[in-house]
Amino acid sequence: MDLTAPSERDEGAEVTTTPSKAVPRPTPETQPFWDGCAAGELRLQRCSSCDAHYFPPRPFCPTCLSDQVTWETASGRGTLHTYVINHRAAPGFEAPYAIAVVQLDEGPRMMSNIVGIENTPENLELDMALEVTFEPRGDMMLPVFQPASTGGGQ
Ligand SMILES: [Zn+2]
Repeated sequence: MDLTAPSERDEGAEVTTTPSKAVPRPTPETQPFWDGCAAGELRLQRCSSCDAHYFPPRPFCPTCLSDQVTWETASGRGTLHTYVINHRAAPGFEAPYAIAVVQLDEGPRMMSNIVGIENTPENLELDMALEVTFEPRGDMMLPVFQPASTGGGQ
């Protein structure tokens, strides 16, 4: 994921005093992914030759180098593979917060943040079930993960 610094403000634009989180900039390769996020869908590329899902976006399958790849909407479900807790505040983040690696059900792993619970070692159990949700960042929607609902309702 390409997280670059926010672009310089236009002259005359309202200046905010609160630090803002870095806003990702789509590239032609990642545009379908961000379009999916805006639509509330986690999209992954899938190779038609070897059937593997992969992330981050690229024009060739990283496994077999085929360019026969398509975009698919993923389940949005995964598990917590690993994480580190960052105790230093980054712009727009309140420390401590976790930088998590989520193992998606489809296979790829994705770096993200965990929302909906306090990011403490007590709360963050490895292999806990997670589901994607989307958080506004600038004019983008970013995929983040929350503990999966147990399903079946109350
Ligand atoms: Zn492949």
